[in-house]
Amino acid sequence: MICPYCSKSIHFENIKEMNIEIDSEYEKGVCVEGGFCPSCNELIIRYYEGDFKRGANGDGYIVNEENERLLYPFNKSRSFILDDVPHEYTSDFSEAVLVLLISPKASAALSRRCLQRFFHSHLSIKKASLVKEIEVFISTQQAPSYILDAVDAIRNIGNFAAHPLKDTNTGEVIEVEPGEAEWLLEVLELLFDFYFIYPKKLEKRKEELNKKLEKLGKPKMK
Ligand SMILES: [Zn+2]
Repeated sequence: MICPYCSKSIHFENIKEMNIEIDSEYEKGVCVEGGFCPSCNELIIRYYEGDFKRGANGDGYIVNEENERLLYPFNKSRSFILDDVPHEYTSDFSEAVLVLLISPKASAALSRRCLQRFFHSHLSIKKASLVKEIEVFISTQQAPSYILDAVDAIRNIGNFAAHPLKDTNTGEVIEVEPGEAEWLLEVLELLFDFYFIYPKKLEKRKEELNKKLEKLGKPKMK
């Protein structure tokens, strides 16, 4: 699993687990287990369902795990600061972060909608589908190549060819590919940083430098 704190791929070993039989006829059960990330030592509590079995000592255990969910941390929010990002993007983005662990599908839908709104209103790129908009964005080359590549990867990671709704109705809640919801958030962070946060930072630095230049009686930077 991926640690929700340090984002490293870890082999999680619980220090405590509770197995509950919920259906004896079909041998179904659930497990809740807790332990610490071997890399960053933070507490993780997870839940999963599966087939309920009993060992020789009578204790229950679960095999064929499915529907795994993270119970804690409930919503480990990303440390991204949204102060300089316009409000029209922050509400979808924040909600996409909030629901990521509970529903990657919902998170991805919010992120795709947020991305499309960004294309429409900030870059005035408006086409029939998200893929076409991504193509236009890449062809204009108005961002560094690492951003162009990251945006381009959305199509591949999301397997857009197999899910036409992702493309034409971006807010639709549909199946996600592994890692897709996280990737969309990564890309939004890159875009916000490049288009909103970094320019603000630069402006501030310029103001500070101009104050210093003024004190020295030198001409200001434009
Ligand atoms: Zn960790």
